[in-house]
Amino acid sequence: MIPREARLHQPGIKTPRVTVGHMDDERPDLAELEPSELESVVTALGADRFHARQIFRWLHRRGRERFDGMTDLSRHLRARLDETCTITTPVVTSRERSSDGTQKFLFTLGDGRTIESVFIPDTPALTLCVSTQVGCAMQCGFCLTGQMGLARHLTAGEIAGQVRVLARELELQDTRFNIVLMGMGEPLHNYDATMKALRILAAPDGLALTPKRVTLSTVGLLPAMARLSEETWIPNLAVSLHATTDRIRHELIPTSRQQRLSDLITACRRFPLKHRDRITFEYVLLDGINDTAADARRLARLLRGLRAKVNLLPLNEAPGIPFSRPSDEQVERFARSLARSGVTVSVRKSRGRDIRAACGQLIVDGGPRAGSAPRARSAQEQ
Ligand code: SAH
Repeated sequence: MIPREARLHQPGIKTPRVTVGHMDDERPDLAELEPSELESVVTALGADRFHARQIFRWLHRRGRERFDGMTDLSRHLRARLDETCTITTPVVTSRERSSDGTQKFLFTLGDGRTIESVFIPDTPALTLCVSTQVGCAMQCGFCLTGQMGLARHLTAGEIAGQVRVLARELELQDTRFNIVLMGMGEPLHNYDATMKALRILAAPDGLALTPKRVTLSTVGLLPAMARLSEETWIPNLAVSLHATTDRIRHELIPTSRQQRLSDLITACRRFPLKHRDRITFEYVLLDGINDTAADARRLARLLRGLRAKVNLLPLNEAPGIPFSRPSDEQVERFARSLARSGVTVSVRKSRGRDIRAACGQLIVDGGPRAGSAPRARSAQEQ
C-alpha cells in the first residue's frame, strides 16, 4: 500500500497534515515506487519480475507516462497495468526562458498545487534545481519561498517526477546533468520522500544519478543531518549558514532559534566526506547585516579545520524582502578577506533573475484554485 499522507514532523517546526494524490484512487501509483516495490506490484499481477525493470526504464529513463507506449510489454500486460495501476506525473503548465539561458518551469500537481523547478544550462555543467515542498516552513527572512509558508510536502514521486519530466523536455536523458535540491522547500524537513526520490533517481535502470551529481542544500536540521550521515547513498551537502553569530542567525532564520551555530558546525565536522569532498557553506550577503570585515574573520574562524568551501550569495532583492544587496565592491572585499584566511570561496552568479528564477525567488501565487487548476495527468487520463 502506498502511503498517501505526507507525514514527517520535526520538533519546533510546524508541519500541516495534508493528504495528497488521488484520494479516490487506491491503485498503486508506479511513479512513487523504487525498483524493489515496483517488482512486488508486477509479480502480484502474476507477471515476471523482469517486466518491472522494463517499466522502470520506460518511466524514468524514457519519461513515458502511459502504458500503451511501453512497446516491449505484451498487450495483455499493458492492459492489466492500465486497469490496476496509475502513473501520476507533474504537468508543466508554464515555461519561461531567461535572457541568460536559464529556464523556469511551473509544474501543476495532482491536487492542483504548483511548484517551480529551474534549468541552469552552464554552471558549467547542466543543472536542474528541484523543489521538495510546496512552499517552505523555515521562514528565512530574505527568501520569498519562506514567505509562502509550507502548504505541504512533496511525495517522492513528485520530487523525482520533476527530474523525469525535465530530462525528457530538455532531452537530457542520455546526457550527464547535476541536480541541486535548492528549489522550493527544505529537503531535510521532508526527509523520507526526499531520500526515496534520490533512490528512484539513482536506480541504474532509471536516470542512474550518482551522489557526486546531486547536492542537497539544507538550513541545517541537526537530527536529519545525523540521519543523512548514516545513509549509504549520500549526496553532496550544502549548508545555509548566512551568519557568524547566533543572534544574527536567529534573526535571519527564526526556525533556527533552538540551535546554536557551534552545534551546527560540530554536526558538519562529523558529517562523513569522501576523499576529495567538501561541505559547501552558503552565505547570503545582506548589506550592513552580515557582510562586515568582522563577519568575514569570524566566518574563517568558524570553518577552520573543516573541509569546506564557501559560496557567497549576494542577496537577490525582491519586493517585500526587507534587506538589500551589498555593492559588488563589498562582495569582492568579503570574498577576498575569506580567501586571505585560506578559505575556498566562490560568488554565486545570479541566474534567471529576469524571470524570478534565482535563489530565493521561487514563489507561486495563491493555493489551488478550486475548479480552475488542472490536475496532474495520470496514465489513464491522457
Ligand atoms: N531550504 C534549503 C534550500 C534553499 S534555496 C536551504 O535552506 O538551504 C538555496 C539557497 O538560496 C539557500 O542557501 C537559501 O538561503 C538561499 N536564498 C534564499 N533566498 C535568497 C535570496 N533572496 N537571495 C540569495 N539567496 C537566497
